[in-house]
Amino acid sequence: MRRQRSAKVVATLGPASSSRAMLRALFDAGVDVFRCNFSHGTHDDHRKLFAAIRHVEHDTGRPIGILADLQGPKLRLGNFAGGRVQLPAGSPFRLDLDDKLGDKNRAPLPHPEVFRALVPGNELLIDDGKVRLKVHDCGPDFAETECLVGGTLSNHKGVNVPHCVLPISAVTDKDRADLSFALENGADWIALSFVQRPEDVAEGRKLIGNAAGLLVKLEKPSAIRRLGEIIDLADALMVARGDLGVEMPPEDVPTVQKQVIHACRLAGKPVIVATQMLESMINAPTPTRAEASDVATAVYEGADAVMLSAETAVGDYPVEAVAIMDRIAHRVQEDPLYFASLQTKLLEHEHTDPDAISAAACQVAATVGAAAIVSYTTSGATALRAARERPAVPILVLTSSLGTARRLALLWGAHCVHSADVKSFSDMVQRAVRIAHREDIAQPGQRVVITAGVPFGTPGATNTLRIAWVDR
Ligand code: PEP
Repeated sequence: MRRQRSAKVVATLGPASSSRAMLRALFDAGVDVFRCNFSHGTHDDHRKLFAAIRHVEHDTGRPIGILADLQGPKLRLGNFAGGRVQLPAGSPFRLDLDDKLGDKNRAPLPHPEVFRALVPGNELLIDDGKVRLKVHDCGPDFAETECLVGGTLSNHKGVNVPHCVLPISAVTDKDRADLSFALENGADWIALSFVQRPEDVAEGRKLIGNAAGLLVKLEKPSAIRRLGEIIDLADALMVARGDLGVEMPPEDVPTVQKQVIHACRLAGKPVIVATQMLESMINAPTPTRAEASDVATAVYEGADAVMLSAETAVGDYPVEAVAIMDRIAHRVQEDPLYFASLQTKLLEHEHTDPDAISAAACQVAATVGAAAIVSYTTSGATALRAARERPAVPILVLTSSLGTARRLALLWGAHCVHSADVKSFSDMVQRAVRIAHREDIAQPGQRVVITAGVPFGTPGATNTLRIAWVDR
């Protein structure tokens, strides 16, 4: 079974999508990577989800990626007497560390680090920016504000502080516990939320090592300001447009999306575009024209993957949402302009054998009209470099590491197959040709371009390129 598109689909799991039958239906409709959101659910819930995903993987014989998304240091208000208050625009409002229940004049904000970082003039955004407060005066345990945009404040609503770099780590105690759980249960990707600076990524790396891929969610303007350094330290990135669109004006988000996709492409790091892609499908069986266009735009821009959130986690039409996303990505790929627009003269090559071989393989495949590039890889690095070229043919990734096969389910253009180590040159050719045919990637009479490392099975040794025919 092979997808008819290079861009991948990530689906967030939740109450609407946790049964094994639903996971199978979502996979069949087009999901390549399942996202388990650790902002919700217990470890027991997630353990069941991980197990059900691995069952689907076993039943279908296709490697599936599991993305464990850590909650990160989400800031929240404390509680109110009566649960909520109505705050009109223009009214004064105080936030402080006192845990007394809030009222129409004040509320607890149990985050001392926020008060340490605030300066007069800063804005605080409550409940995804529905309520805006401007700081007039502040100290180590309070902020006096004026309400710029009024609305309802209620228990535990989220708080964003867009123009401040807060002295907090991107990995909370809850995240550490969730991370250990996710790694023990075989997560392929760990997503860090609310990364503010490169040091946050380095901290995540110390904890994750290479046990899973480290994916940075870009949702803070401060992270965008240091994008290059963050991309260097991450294995993959996500344009997390939900929080990004709260922390910066919505009109800036499309440009940031384009810039991030471009920078990730140049660096050869997979990038996901996320949030509100098919939002209306939470309650409707078809998307709006604008949503279809949004998915297509992300694919045209060269994103590795597009992601569904509430549409599959809590929506009424999870399978339909995946199916239409699959069809949009497929449809874009049929447009000759798609591959033409992905060609770029800006790709510089590293002066290494693997990069030279990967770039050459893409050129050779185009020159001889090969049906596919077959990339033997242990760590996945060679496949990442081949995908960076955005070749017009699929990249068949053959790896003896099941972890690599699962991780690269996220990678643009990659069709991953878990396969034993190659023993000899003729074994390398025969295996590549046999699997390319079996997976419906190359037909008898077509050629494939194979890259591998000799001695076989040595990570980082890609140094060989071979053209081979699929026997008639
Ligand atoms: C986002 O903000 O777009 C996002 C994906 O993060 P979360 O769903 O965790 O808020």
